[in-house]
Amino acid sequence: MLLRMSTLLLRTLREDPADAEVPSHRLLLRAGYVRRAAPGGYTWLPLGKLVLDRVTEIVRAEMAAIGDQEVHFPALLPAEPYRTSGRWTEYGDDIFTLADRKGAEHLLAPTHEEMAALLVKDLFTSYRDFPVTLFQIQTKFRDEARPRAGLLRGREFLMKDAYSFDLDEAGLQKAYERHRAAYEKIFNRLGLDFTVVHAMSGAMGGSASEEFLAATPVGEDAFVGCTACDYAANTEAVVTRAPVAGDPDAHPVLEVHDTPETPTIAALVELANTRALGGRTDWTAADTLKNVVLTVRRPGAEQAELLVIGLPGDREVDLKRVAAVLAPATVAVFEDWADHPELVRGYLGPQILAKHSVRYLVDPRVVAGTAWLTGANEPGRHAVDVVCGRDFVPDGTIEAAEVRPGDPCPACVTGELTMRRGIEVGHIFQLGRRYTDAFAVDVLGPEGKPVRPTMGCYGIGVSRAVAAVAEQHHDERGLVWPAAIAPCDVHLVAAGKGPQLDAALALGERLSAAGLRVLVDDRTHVSAGVKFTDAELVGIPRAVVVGCRLADGYVELRDRSSGERMELPVDGLVERLLDEVPGTRRDRV
Ligand code: ATP
Ligand code: MG
Repeated sequence: MLLRMSTLLLRTLREDPADAEVPSHRLLLRAGYVRRAAPGGYTWLPLGKLVLDRVTEIVRAEMAAIGDQEVHFPALLPAEPYRTSGRWTEYGDDIFTLADRKGAEHLLAPTHEEMAALLVKDLFTSYRDFPVTLFQIQTKFRDEARPRAGLLRGREFLMKDAYSFDLDEAGLQKAYERHRAAYEKIFNRLGLDFTVVHAMSGAMGGSASEEFLAATPVGEDAFVGCTACDYAANTEAVVTRAPVAGDPDAHPVLEVHDTPETPTIAALVELANTRALGGRTDWTAADTLKNVVLTVRRPGAEQAELLVIGLPGDREVDLKRVAAVLAPATVAVFEDWADHPELVRGYLGPQILAKHSVRYLVDPRVVAGTAWLTGANEPGRHAVDVVCGRDFVPDGTIEAAEVRPGDPCPACVTGELTMRRGIEVGHIFQLGRRYTDAFAVDVLGPEGKPVRPTMGCYGIGVSRAVAAVAEQHHDERGLVWPAAIAPCDVHLVAAGKGPQLDAALALGERLSAAGLRVLVDDRTHVSAGVKFTDAELVGIPRAVVVGCRLADGYVELRDRSSGERMELPVDGLVERLLDEVPGTRRDRV
């Protein structure tokens, strides 16, 4: 393959585009890999398409290697199957819906569990047909609330989605592990630094689930690791270790105090210590019980319900964690104080919630027998010795509190949690029978009785992975592609015109004929300096500069990643590059 810069659909940009917030987005735009075409929609330019195709091929090859069979479902689908599964309403505003000319409702598929289950039901009738795993690489559509950071969160994006069907749990477990191993291979081949973390299964239903997160400070997902063991989890999935419950009756009776002007935890703690409430002067925020009012709307419900969450006052509610627990319901911060006089803003305590039938969930640290300083449900008043299990009984617990570095690890006794940010590039789920139940997918079992297959589903954000690699592989001068997915193997730069240009083109032909992918900068109207700057921005692993030393039979080889430069004789250059570029030798033989 030989691409000529003089004719390539490529315009590099000197300046950072105004609306590009993260490095990958900035560089992919500036280096001419993608162009924004719509909100959350990007056009792949020739160089970008080459990278996307290489990533796609790696994904496809590893899926085929574990025996997954490639299919291709339509993206435009009738609403019916999604109504049957419940996802038409569960997905809510996140799906694009439309009507055809007869008024029949359709959607642009966000994923294809329904179609995979229906296809298997359609074609397979016996236990002998199983196990089977289908996959596809296809454009997906989601009406994301905040399309962001270019390819990282698009409204139209390329996904690899796979669906496994097994007759029993052991089979599903094996399929899950096979995909986990294939994903590790894929992300290693892409050159990503990634961590496999425990995840929530969200709108998909199901149980065991892990995410593959590519670490980068700009990632939307926060995840934890442990200083002592190999525990790793998305913060959404972190489980809080609960203290041992105590005897609620072992505490003095609840006592109400005047605490004027203490609507905040900080003000309350200060006053509690100055006035020695409950005979103590060592109050901290962690001794107070903060009660946060939220509204929860179930999919399809007209009305939102109130939910109060109680947690130690030194912690904030992490709405992302709450949303993950309550999905597919959506959560919002409560604002209608005027309509609910029973809820006294700044002085709310759980003592009255049961009476008003308001659902009350607590952080796992709020166990029976713990005593708290909390609101007394009257303006300017708080209560001490408000005891869980005596003065209030929560309706359950919820993982709602922010996770902090230094928190104890839930998996081992000694470790502390550390926190990083990452981009979710892959997600594997043990779905179970949610979809096979919805569509009554039954096949004939070995004993003549029907069996219902159990499903796993496995996604990779293919277009997102391109951006994740760019996020991890760049420097201040531009992109630095890993060899396995670079758009080309060699960037040939003709530093001058005339003989240098002719030599560069001739060399390009030879390299290309030998099986290398070559981009040759044969532009005649730009300076050598501009060509060098562009080569660094575009980020092909090695550049060969055909310059003034050509007359003596030499060119310069530049390594994009190390910055190393060396003079080499033109003779033998093709051989040398073939040795360096992975795969090409084998391809030629
Ligand atoms: P996120 O939490 O980032 O919204 P998700 O959990 O909703 O993603 P899945 O349903 O698990 O996504 O989809 C499988 C994969 O598709 C994800 O792991 C991710 O890599 C990719 N993906 C999901 N949404 C987008 C998007 N809007 N743009 C690009 N890639 C996406
Ligand atoms: Mg996911």
